[in-house]
Amino acid sequence: MAGGQQPTDRAGAFAEPWRDPHQTPLIRIERLTKTFGDFYAVDDVSLDIYRGEFFSLLGGSGCGKTTLLRLMAGFEMPTEGRISIDGVDLAGVPPHRRPVNMMFQSYALFPHMSVARNVAFGLRQEGLPSAEIRSRVADALELVKLDRLAKRKPHQLSGGQRQRVALARCLVKRPKVLLLDEPLAALDRKLREETQFELVNIQEQLGMTFVIVTHDQGEAMAMSTRVGVMDEGRIVQIGTPNEVYEYPTSRFVAGFIGSINMFDGVLAESAPDHALVEGVGEPVRFHIDHGIAAPASATVTVAIRPEKMRLSKTLPEGFTEDSPNLLRGTVDEIAYLGGQSIYVVVLESGRMVRVSVPNTHRMTELPITWEDPVYVSWPAFAGVVLVD
Ligand code: ATP
Repeated sequence: MAGGQQPTDRAGAFAEPWRDPHQTPLIRIERLTKTFGDFYAVDDVSLDIYRGEFFSLLGGSGCGKTTLLRLMAGFEMPTEGRISIDGVDLAGVPPHRRPVNMMFQSYALFPHMSVARNVAFGLRQEGLPSAEIRSRVADALELVKLDRLAKRKPHQLSGGQRQRVALARCLVKRPKVLLLDEPLAALDRKLREETQFELVNIQEQLGMTFVIVTHDQGEAMAMSTRVGVMDEGRIVQIGTPNEVYEYPTSRFVAGFIGSINMFDGVLAESAPDHALVEGVGEPVRFHIDHGIAAPASATVTVAIRPEKMRLSKTLPEGFTEDSPNLLRGTVDEIAYLGGQSIYVVVLESGRMVRVSVPNTHRMTELPITWEDPVYVSWPAFAGVVLVD
């Protein structure tokens, strides 16, 4: 569809079983609904998750992602629909009998128990022999790199270390599926990023299936094989991180994942290999290098990521003043973010467009600055057309 080099996401290193109709999913969710009174917290959700996936449920506050996770764990009962794991229908199966374990946002460690005893707790309850408990706890602590802190109490640990105790406590039970509710929420930004990599490494080493709930799209993009984007109890798009970022199927997903410029338009030309969109409210035309599944004169939205746009003081090479994929404006704001700068350009209509410019050179002189008249241009593959 789109041209240009696409960076690969985690899904690229994965066999992508969801593309193979002969593969059976590990978790199958069919037409699942959960209501509280007359409120639909989860609304007719169908979803397949495959063995070894790191699947993220991503959405804003209150969209139903935690409820969906709790339904899988067995802490909530569905109003309608069903969930099966490995072909076994989970209706009526209590949480402790399900082949899943859930790691809560709060971690809920026992403050009076050492790290090792916290991790051993679930196995003791199952009545496993002490030698087996010792060896499994040692393995789990080594995996999360806490073997040297086994005797400490939770209050003697950092936030990141406590998070890893909670993880070890879930892993030690060797569930088929680990459910994680905002596992990194309590960590500061730097630790979050480090822990994202650790979580992915552990999940890969164990080949376990992880389902994670997060409202942080960066986190979901970095860790997941696939992402399910939720809104108002429904899953509105499922795809690899690259797919939901590059090919959002709705204005909601386009706007929720990353920053994006959206323009209203009318499809002026709809051919199998290209399309032309006439801007509405903006003197601009969009030349798109692929066909759109909509007839001419359909109303559409063209969405363009800030990093796909270019900023220049002079007319960009190959463009004339009335070329498509070109806007004129004035630099209104510049946010220097280190690796890149975000330029906010105000168009004649008053509308703002965000353009991100990588800072590949030291910014000793600002080539484009506040109040500069500029051209904003983009290649034909940059625009994603959403049919309203
Ligand atoms: P957050 O990121 O804020 O935790 P979420 O997407 O995880 O949000 P849920 O916890 O799944 O959201 O809640 C979805 C909706 O269902 C919310 O509007 C919430 O108020 C409602 N809800 C959840 N549990 C109950 C309950 N036990 N009784 C009534 N309403 C509930």
